[in-house]
Amino acid sequence: MSIFTKIIAGEIPSEKLYEDEKIIVIKDINPKAKTHLLIIPKKEIPTINDLEFEDRELVADMFFVAKRLAKDLWITEGYKLNFNVWAKGGQEVMHIHLHLLSDI
Ligand code: AMP
Repeated sequence: MSIFTKIIAGEIPSEKLYEDEKIIVIKDINPKAKTHLLIIPKKEIPTINDLEFEDRELVADMFFVAKRLAKDLWITEGYKLNFNVWAKGGQEVMHIHLHLLSDI
């Protein structure tokens, strides 16, 4: 079970900004920008390499949640969205998550 699955299950505390039936958004515990959020699917998919065709709507939904949060947080003039993939790509938690970063 990934640390994010434990967060989703409420076993580990987090600062939650958004939740729906498929996705949760929390503040990164070690922020690398003024705003640093993690958009996490409740489905535990280890890495982008493990995505299945059936996951396409879920991944699209993650971007729409990012768009909505950027608007709600007034950072639409500048932010970054990124997935780290595998250890050499900087991925530490093997449960896909979209980083949303902004210094606005
Ligand atoms: P990555 O390196 O792409 O796997 O990103 C993992 C991110 O999760 C890092 O930016 C960590 O700071 C963050 N992180 C790890 N544990 C927690 C936690 N318990 N709550 C919030 N963020 C976390």
